[in-house]
Formats: sequence, C-alpha cells, structure tokens
Amino acid sequence: EALKSLNFIEHIVEEDLGNGFPKEKLRFRFPPEPNGYLHIGHASSICLNFGLGLRYGAPVNLRFDDTNPAKEEQEYVDAIKEDVKWLGYEWDTECFASDYFQQLYDWAIELIKTGKAYVDSQTSEEIAVQKGTPTEPGTPSPFRNRSVEENLQLFQGMKEGRFKEGEHVLRAKVDMSSSNMLMRDPIMYRILYRAHHRTNTDWCIYPMYDWTHGESDYIEQVSHSLCTLEFAMHRELYDWFLDQVVDKNLVRPKQREFARRNFSHTVVSKRKLLQLVEQGFVKGWDDPRMPTISGLRRRGYTPESIRNFADTIGIAKRDNVVDVSLLEFHVREHLNKIAPRVMGVLNPLKVVLTNYPEGEEEWLEAENNPEDDSAGFRQLPFSRELYIEKEDFMEEANRKFFRLKLGGEVRLKNGYIIKAESCTKDTDGNIIEVQCTYDPKSKSGSGTEESLRKVKGTLHWVSAKHALSAEVRLYDRLFTDETPDAHKDKNFLDFINPDSLQIITAFVEPSLANAEIGDRFQFQRMGYFNIDPDSKPEKLVFNRTVGLRDTWAK
Ligand code: ATP
Ligand code: MG
Ligand code: MG
Repeated sequence: EALKSLNFIEHIVEEDLGNGFPKEKLRFRFPPEPNGYLHIGHASSICLNFGLGLRYGAPVNLRFDDTNPAKEEQEYVDAIKEDVKWLGYEWDTECFASDYFQQLYDWAIELIKTGKAYVDSQTSEEIAVQKGTPTEPGTPSPFRNRSVEENLQLFQGMKEGRFKEGEHVLRAKVDMSSSNMLMRDPIMYRILYRAHHRTNTDWCIYPMYDWTHGESDYIEQVSHSLCTLEFAMHRELYDWFLDQVVDKNLVRPKQREFARRNFSHTVVSKRKLLQLVEQGFVKGWDDPRMPTISGLRRRGYTPESIRNFADTIGIAKRDNVVDVSLLEFHVREHLNKIAPRVMGVLNPLKVVLTNYPEGEEEWLEAENNPEDDSAGFRQLPFSRELYIEKEDFMEEANRKFFRLKLGGEVRLKNGYIIKAESCTKDTDGNIIEVQCTYDPKSKSGSGTEESLRKVKGTLHWVSAKHALSAEVRLYDRLFTDETPDAHKDKNFLDFINPDSLQIITAFVEPSLANAEIGDRFQFQRMGYFNIDPDSKPEKLVFNRTVGLRDTWAK
C-alpha cells in the first residue's frame, strides 16, 4: 500500500521498521479501564490498534487497566469483551494490570533500594502545595531523604495493612524542579482498603496509572503503546519508569499520542455516561440513545458501519468534534445494502377500497431488497381495508403534494393504483377513514398497460386485517446542544433533550411475525428499524436505527 495512505501512527511504525525494528516484534494493545462501557470514542482506539495488528500481522492484547478498585467491576470487563468481539476483532491475549501487582511491587522495592523511591508521610494537601507551579520549582518533601532501610520497612508496612489510608504514599524520587510537573516526585502507590474485582483483598496498596501503564506494556512486550493526547506530558515519566527496569535485550515500548475524539450532540466520557445511567436519564448503558457500543448495537447499528466510520474519520493530532450525522451516514449506507424491505405504517389511517369485494384477499409478490439479488421475494396480503400513513393523505393539496388527495391517484407499493373518492371525519374534524376505488387492472408486475401507467406518488401500506401491531421506539438526539459538555457556565445535563424517546404503536406486515431480536429492516419510506431485545412473539418491539434521507425514486 502506498505510504501516503498511512496515518501518522502508521508512519511512526514504518519508520521504526525502516530503522531495523523487527516486524515480528511488533505488538499492540487496547487498554480500557473497566470502569464503564465502551463508547464510540473507544471505537477509534480499537480500530486503530486492531487495525495495526491486521496490517502488520501483529498480535494485539486486550489489556484491562484495573488499578482503581473503587470504580472497576467485573460487569464492565464482560461488557468490554463482548463489545470488542462484536466489533469484529480478536485479541491475542487477555491481560489485566492487576496480574502484575506482584511484579510492580517487586520493582518498587528495587527502586527503593537504588534510592529512586521513598515513602512520604505527609498529607496529600501538603504534597500538593510542595509541588509548586509550572514556573516555580517544587519543595522537596522532608521525608525525601529517608534511609533505604526505613523506606523498605514503611513500604512493607503499607502493604501489610499497618497504616490508615492517606497515612503514607510511595513516591518516585525524580526531580522536584522539573519543568514537567508530573516529574516532581510522582506518587507510585497509595493505600486503599477496597476489595478489587480480581485480587479481592490481597492488596491494600494500589499502583498509580503512570507507574503501571508503561511497565505493563513492557511486561507484555508491547512495541507501540498508543494513547490519547492528554498523556503527552506523561511520556517523559513513562520513559523514566521504563529506564528503571528495562533489559536491553527486550523490546522497549514506545508511547505515542493521538487526539481524543468528541462527537456532536453527545458526551463520550464514562464518568458522564455513568451519570446518565445512575440518574435515570436513560434506561441503562445499552439504551439506544447512548453513544456506547452496546447502545449502538441495540439501536441497530452494524459493526461494519462503526468500523467504516472510524476508518473514515481516521485519527487526528488535534482534538476536534466529529458530526454524528457521519456515523448515521455509514449505518444508512450499510443497511441499504443488507436490510430487507418491509412495510410498516407508523401513524395509521384507514383506507377502504369500496370496489374491492368484501371478505376477499390476495397475496402480492414483493421484492425483499432491490440492492441484493439473492434476497428473493415475499408474499404480502392485500384486502379491502388497508392502513396508510396519516401524513400521506390530504383532502385538498397543491400540485406538489404527490401523495393521496381527494380525486387524486397513487400507487400502493407492490399493489394497485387507487383513487381517493371521499373521507370520513370524527366529531372533532379529524379524518378517520378514506374511501377509495382501486383499478383492478393496475396490479404491479402484471404487465398490463394499466400496470405500467405512471402516477406521481407511491405509498407504503399494510392490510388492516393481516397487519401486526407493534411498539415502535423513535429516537432523537439525547442532547439539544451540539457540544453539551463544552460550556463553562452549564452542566451537560442542562442540555438533555426531553423528547429523545417517543413510543408509538404501528402496524407492520405479517411477514415480520417471525423476525428475531436484532434483525434489521428497512420500513419503506420510514427508515431503518431493528427488533429490540424487549420484543416478545406476542408483542413486537422495534427501534428506529436511523431515518431515510430520501424517499423512493421510483
Ligand atoms: P473515559 O473518559 O471515557 O473514561 P478513558 O481514556 O479514561 O476515557 P479508557 O478506558 O482508559 O478510557 O480508554 C481506553 C483507550 O481508549 C485509551 O487508550 C484511550 O485513550 C482511548 N479512548 C478513550 N476515549 C477516546 C476517545 N473519545 N477518542 C479516542 N480514543 C479514546
Ligand atoms: Mg478514565
Ligand atoms: Mg484511561
């Protein structure tokens, strides 16, 4: 492949290969913290890392970055695995930072022994004040020059649970006057009496992210450790920690950064998504309005559409906001190819064909998917009483209204041409029924002159007596603002769209009786829908995945 089609991370890898790095030693990882469900932002990182794996035939680890027992849970580990698999990727090894707790502890002891780490017994407030400011050097801790013996003793005491939370921390002895604040003696361990979802109560000291991440990469022999830009300043510390342990004969991991993706009309921070779940703004992590992978799956998105979207936006060097309508474009494009066409009427209005024999019915042939020759045909029942969309009928309308109006004609898709003769209203003046006549010789596909007659409008419909009633959930954006979490004076929750979910009862064609959870369809002229897990044989439930941009051309 031409070099110019590579993204900047791939260029870095190519450069390393060019400088003699052995291709068979390439290894990548996707490192989620199991403190929430994966979201569409993670999809970028997943596609980047697993995409590199595919491009170079290199293994990619799924690494759970589980060093904070206060926020992490097995439920999240399971959900993350399901989502990565569903997106279509296979990891080489499932790894947990918590599996390295002993190794990290042993290395920490080494650092103490070589005078590179010390136990600080100040409060976190005192430590924070001493850090100084970016323009002024920090103040060394009064405990900075503790003896190795005392440090070893105290650190062991921390591990054995002899101290209270906050009483001591272990700090790396780096440089209190570094212009990089992160280098000013960063904390490596804190005391935390919390059960961990994997190590339970084995540990009461937990390693900090900076101390864990690079060493985990090294233990796994990850060659390129890709993370988002907020870690750019951490790179110096990542390298410092590696310097303390690296064996020259092994791969030294390299951290490189790319921009975090933001998306319009939503938020992608697990902390904020958790708030939406906990405060009941949505029904769960997999609510179809959520930007989570599980929400998108439930909504009817395909893994292909998400991967194509991630590939299209690529990776960037600077933070920016991606319009979610691009994601909708990709799902529409994929569903157009694969989703069988069916008829469903969302807002029903009864049509009676006065010249169609009472009690009779017939079965019409309908093409399942004009985009897919192998999709075949199905049978649709037709009878004297039908439903069409309320919006498709007007008593009187101007010449640009190509749907049904009194005295006007339309074709019923896969059926006949009908003409509206009269209508009935309730006492409030609402139209409740339209009486039409049909042209018996105009049946679609019959080859007669009448069947070839052009009329301007084509409507979808269902036969009233055969139709199934179904619950349909229509979604709108979850936030009314384009960048709900980018306002200084307002909270993202202030922009919740109160009308993001509308539940209606629709009528759908009877072929859908056999549809299964997850099945996807195009309701002609109305959009793409899928069957929600709440669906039962006696009560179908559909989600609208996305609307159709255009109506029928024919
Ligand atoms: P969050 O704020 O949602 O918790 P995070 O970065 O803390 O995000 P992690 O579980 O640590 O979440 O993320 C795993 C990987 O996915 C990291 O490498 C992270 O940089 C990347 N990632 C997370 N969010 C995005 C995003 N919006 N765009 C691109 N990459 C992301
Ligand atoms: Mg996080
Ligand atoms: Mg993280």
